[in-house]
Amino acid sequence: MAITKAKIQGNLRRIRENIASACAKSGRSESEVTIIAVTKLVDIEPIKILVDMGLTEFGESRAQQIAERAAELDAWLQRRRSEMPAVVRWHLVGHLQRNKVKTVLPVAAMIHSIDSLRLAEEINARAERENRTIDVLLQVNCSQESQKSGCAVGATSHLAELISTLKSVRLTGLMTMAAAGKHEDARPAFSLLRELFDEIRNEKIGGEHFRHLSMGMSQDYTVAVEEGATLLRIGSALFQ
Ligand SMILES: *Cc1c(COP(=O)(O)O)cnc(C)c1O
Repeated sequence: MAITKAKIQGNLRRIRENIASACAKSGRSESEVTIIAVTKLVDIEPIKILVDMGLTEFGESRAQQIAERAAELDAWLQRRRSEMPAVVRWHLVGHLQRNKVKTVLPVAAMIHSIDSLRLAEEINARAERENRTIDVLLQVNCSQESQKSGCAVGATSHLAELISTLKSVRLTGLMTMAAAGKHEDARPAFSLLRELFDEIRNEKIGGEHFRHLSMGMSQDYTVAVEEGATLLRIGSALFQ
């Protein structure tokens, strides 16, 4: 059975309450934390429900799907423009192959999964041709598992420095995925990302745009908020 509107509303309310208490606990303001609804496992209806509830940030993990979703939702928004002018921004949160950059670039507001200079350069070249700038995050393998994507911890600040010199990509922060597990298991990876972030900021790499920590998913977003996350990527907690 499809998920109901009431269920999604209840889920979102609970997530916001949890974020509020994690903020209170760590002395942060809720306005610093943005929910990105990761919609890879649901169809278009729940996305429309969230747009109607005021959510504007959505994430997909695959190139083809983000392009299709964005087009489908955009057509729906166009039809209702007179009722409610909503702005929706799409985030690519999953691994990106260089040959898929052309699919993602026209629709993505932010790419979270830059893990090499070659990928950043490919995005930069395409963005330049299209006369635009795109926000990107450098993904770091903070849990240091060999099967996880992201650049090596030790390479992070050097890579950030190189990416920050590209003209048509704007390095706006760092992203990581914790190893599967519960809450507290994720804390070391998140606090490590925070340390790398502070180090890069102290070196003034990326300037004022360098301000995002994309970390925290359904199992561990409260820990992520306590460790300084500004972007939470939440899927199943919204839609189950
Ligand atoms: C699927 C996915 C998420 C959301 O995961 P949930 O556990 O369902 O919240 C977040 N980030 C990335 C990169 C994903 O692929």
